[in-house]
Amino acid sequence: MTVAFYPGAFDPITNGHLDIATRAARLFEKVCVGVYDTPAKDLLFSTEERLELVRQVVAGTSNKNIDVVTYTGLTVDFAKKIGAQTIVRGLRVATDFEREFDMAMMNKKIAPDCELVCLMASQQYQFVSSSRLKEVVALGGPINDLLPEVVEIALRKKLTGKD
Ligand code: ADP
Repeated sequence: MTVAFYPGAFDPITNGHLDIATRAARLFEKVCVGVYDTPAKDLLFSTEERLELVRQVVAGTSNKNIDVVTYTGLTVDFAKKIGAQTIVRGLRVATDFEREFDMAMMNKKIAPDCELVCLMASQQYQFVSSSRLKEVVALGGPINDLLPEVVEIALRKKLTGKD
């Protein structure tokens, strides 16, 4: 079975992330979305909240071959543990490339059998990032169709205390 692992912070999951997960689900028999439990960056949502939001959003799609888990430790180790031969990442414009390239080189050194597949972000999500959306919501701006509804509600509640 072809299994892909799609890791990330998902703080919170956006329609850009979901787009990558569903496109990967057409390429692989199974996709496992991995929510980092111990990220290197400061996050707004707890691990349980991020996991729950990703689960709800994935459950709202027709994809039956996407699992959602949390994980700690090296991404390549976890990918191996779940039988994933491939790591999937999304690439937005040039800025993501350098980071992904560095990470891919290191991962290849640690786990030579693990391949990386980068999917180009769809045009409508090129400028979408969790951090940008957090800023917009915090400042009371509209986010239209960039976040799943359940995530938008959770984000507004978290940032403004209002539903
Ligand atoms: P990380 O800290 O691992 O980058 P993120 O949650 O920010 O965690 O991103 C997870 C993955 O999803 C990364 O590969 C990132 O480039 C990708 N991604 C983030 N936003 C988008 C988007 N709008 N379209 C496509 N891919 C995206």
